[in-house]
Amino acid sequence: MFKLRPLPYDFGALEPYIDARIMELHHDKHQAAYVNNLNKALEKHTQLEKESLETLLTELDRVPESIRTAVRNNAGGDFNHTFFWEIMKKDGGGDARGSLGDHIKKTFHSFDAFKDTFSTAAKSVFGSGWAWLVVGKNGDIMVMTTPNQDSPVMQGLQPIVGLDVWEHAYYLQYENRRPDYIEAWWHVVDWDKAEENYRGIVEG
Ligand code: MN
Repeated sequence: MFKLRPLPYDFGALEPYIDARIMELHHDKHQAAYVNNLNKALEKHTQLEKESLETLLTELDRVPESIRTAVRNNAGGDFNHTFFWEIMKKDGGGDARGSLGDHIKKTFHSFDAFKDTFSTAAKSVFGSGWAWLVVGKNGDIMVMTTPNQDSPVMQGLQPIVGLDVWEHAYYLQYENRRPDYIEAWWHVVDWDKAEENYRGIVEG
């Protein structure tokens, strides 16, 4: 059985950029539903309950076809949200530092140019999905988007930073203004955690 992991900070920690009420619903209702639905899907396939979320997502072809879509959506949902909470913190924001900061400047020419590329990608997601900064198979870093709850790990790509642009992530506070939510989100990005993610991937 998979369990809903606790949010690593208070619901109000990311205010004023992300409301406490959004965080509460997002974690306690939306992520909880992904966990519950994943467990429901695996009820008759208990051998898969021992696998990690990442294994389920990277080896979806091992999952019986009758539950494959449910596992893809709900293991993806749980995995992506836990990743998302950890890449944000109170008093975050600023520029990327360290080796990730250097790699971002080398790839995108400046941190601001990277931000523009990432924000444009996040705005361009049609319907529900995510924007990501990932490490590719050749060690390059790149911006990408995924639909629904698909995760970059399904394509063998490792996420450094991710942004949930489902309406449930912002509608209560920003209504239909996704660009305002994206602009606010930069203030809560935890670049120390991003650096840790990056080093874990490239040195791992
Ligand atoms: Mn979400």
